[in-house]
Amino acid sequence: MTRYSVQRFRAAVLHMYLHIAAMITIPLSALYFLLAATPDRGVVPFAFALFVLWLKWRTRHSSEESLRYAGWFVLMIMCLMLYGAYTSNESLHQEVWMMIFPIAFAPIVATRERLIWIVIGAVGLTSVMMLRPEPLTTISTFVFVIAYLTLGFITMMLVRHNEQNIERLAHLSIIDPLTRAYNRGYLKDVMVSEINRCRRSGQALTAIMLDIDYFKMFNDAYGHLYGDSVLEQVADALKRSAQRAGDYVFRYGGEEFCIITSGLNRDESMQFTEKLRCCILELNIENQRSPHRRLTASAGFWCASDLGEVTPSAMLLNADNALYRAKAAGRDLVVDFDEMTTTDAEMAQPQGVVI
Ligand code: GH3
Ligand code: MG
Ligand code: MG
Repeated sequence: MTRYSVQRFRAAVLHMYLHIAAMITIPLSALYFLLAATPDRGVVPFAFALFVLWLKWRTRHSSEESLRYAGWFVLMIMCLMLYGAYTSNESLHQEVWMMIFPIAFAPIVATRERLIWIVIGAVGLTSVMMLRPEPLTTISTFVFVIAYLTLGFITMMLVRHNEQNIERLAHLSIIDPLTRAYNRGYLKDVMVSEINRCRRSGQALTAIMLDIDYFKMFNDAYGHLYGDSVLEQVADALKRSAQRAGDYVFRYGGEEFCIITSGLNRDESMQFTEKLRCCILELNIENQRSPHRRLTASAGFWCASDLGEVTPSAMLLNADNALYRAKAAGRDLVVDFDEMTTTDAEMAQPQGVVI
């Protein structure tokens, strides 16, 4: 799950093509019908305009979903260009339009489909140029097809390179550079989609806030550089312990982590949060300044079984209040928000939970 993915890029390009196609074909077909002496020629742009409008209507909701229709658009573009090449002659040279075909389809179809389309285009181009009423010489046809294939492969390489960059950037935009856990910016996206998913499936969703104990003193005693390396170890340990599909480990800030998991009831959430607390204890990192003499962490969680009106901020606020309670109760322990008494809840201060 990335905020800006290759899928979204492809869908955006498809939508841009549909806009351009609609803007060209609608006035063009109107012009042929109203003004030109040959209204029969307007049939092709008119049919294409109808098709583009239908596609725009089918793809109006989900951008990623709309990619299911990209193949239809590519087929239509190819038919149109091959039709131009077929009806062309020595002076018109409409087969040149076929050169645009690879540039048109490469950014909107999946990598494995590109090769298929390029081969279909080459076979189609060769056939129509040999079979049309005014065929080109074999050598000219050969030169055209070679030029088409060269352009096609260069375009495919450039588009793939661009997609790899998008994938890299999309990954970097959601990862915390120090711990390689997910960053706080991504937390909101995940919480919104997980709340919606769990609402639909009827599953419970659990938010856990975990904070390392006495870490300021740890830094003072052992230095910030070692502190950084300990944060990396803690994040790795948390990621190793939260590996199920639907488990997410975020660095919420400083030495505070947020873990989101689904499908657990309150007891199971307690066991899971205990497991996270223990995995830090098991790192067995010395912390002389702590009363526990070892690096420990406190955690608070809230298991929301009814997600009716729940918002991401409310989930984090409750988990954070439980964490605050765990700190107040002596640290190195886990508190369930639902087990906090009213007095506890009043004592707990929201610690600026903003996502
Ligand atoms: P407690 O949570 O038990 O109440 O005590 P604490 O000392 O951990 O308290 P607090 O959360 O206020 O302190 C957080 C400290 O974490 C402050 C800072 O020295 C340290 N810290 C935050 N971010 C980093 C980081 O990226 N690297 C290092 N080395 N230390 C960090
Ligand atoms: Mg702390
Ligand atoms: Mg803290």
